[in-house]
Amino acid sequence: MASAEEWMQIRPQGLYCVPADSYIDPHEPVHRAIITHGHADHARPGHGQVIATEETQAIMQVRYAGDAPERILLGYGQNHAVTPTVNLWFAPAGHVLGSAQAVLEYNNHRIVISGDYKRHPDPTCKPFEVVQCDTFITEATFALPVFSHPKLEDEMAKVLRSLEVFPERTHLIGVYALGKCQRVMKTLRQAGYEKPFYLHGALISLTELYEGCGYDFGEWIPASDLKGKAREEMRGKVVLAPPSTLADRWSRTLPDMLPIMASGWMQIRARARQRRAEMALIVSDHADWQDLITTVEETQAKEVWITHGRTDALEYELKRRGIKAKALDLIGREEEVE
Ligand SMILES: [Zn+2]
Repeated sequence: MASAEEWMQIRPQGLYCVPADSYIDPHEPVHRAIITHGHADHARPGHGQVIATEETQAIMQVRYAGDAPERILLGYGQNHAVTPTVNLWFAPAGHVLGSAQAVLEYNNHRIVISGDYKRHPDPTCKPFEVVQCDTFITEATFALPVFSHPKLEDEMAKVLRSLEVFPERTHLIGVYALGKCQRVMKTLRQAGYEKPFYLHGALISLTELYEGCGYDFGEWIPASDLKGKAREEMRGKVVLAPPSTLADRWSRTLPDMLPIMASGWMQIRARARQRRAEMALIVSDHADWQDLITTVEETQAKEVWITHGRTDALEYELKRRGIKAKALDLIGREEEVE
């Protein structure tokens, strides 16, 4: 049995699998890339060949129009011989639509590269599946004991309560375009919000992509469709826009705007203040401290590699529990992008 060190390398372009002659989520153009999900810090343009789920390929096509790699579409659980000696398959990661853990099998050794993942429920993607393996490669974005993500329903209830108390205010929620936006919309619907959503233009193409994959968000209206007095109808309703708009000129033109930020980082008060949010919703698409540890234990991996985030704390905790762990400190991952 080969050890992972013998066939996985850290190269300047990113994590490289030697016998598969492939990079996983490389941050520079390479000849063959295995992409775990569509967030921009994992999925970049310019590769010769891209192996990813159908949804991730579609997301990359929306984001990188004109980029035309050879595309290999791989469904969850479907085997693909990347080279004659290496088998690849994807398992759901529960992070965003199409997100996958890459499972690489070579010489009786199995590595699982989780990409980004979460264990909390998300009605807009398939739930995380535990895959037992020899080596587990994990993220560590929220790997500090202070991070314990609340239930999403409780966070959405805050929005509904605020809409009741301030029916004259336009509730603007800052969300990332891929995943967060759709998860917040879907969960607000499940919580009982029945009015239309108003979407900033930057969120529309990916929301339409989700709809094409069968997810229904009820009625939504492009915010830019409303001119002059018509904009008054946004009072007492939910508007969704990228986080950067919370403090920009566009949002100041919304009638009596109440700025709200939805992010895993909202557990840190200073981050909410930076965003100029009056209300902070803790909505994370990553595993929290306890879920990171639970997941590592469930994989029964003999060795754990930690790619990005609070790598030191997780490495220390896993070693304390008798699990062999090491931090890789991959560059090119952005902590703000969820
Ligand atoms: Zn991500």
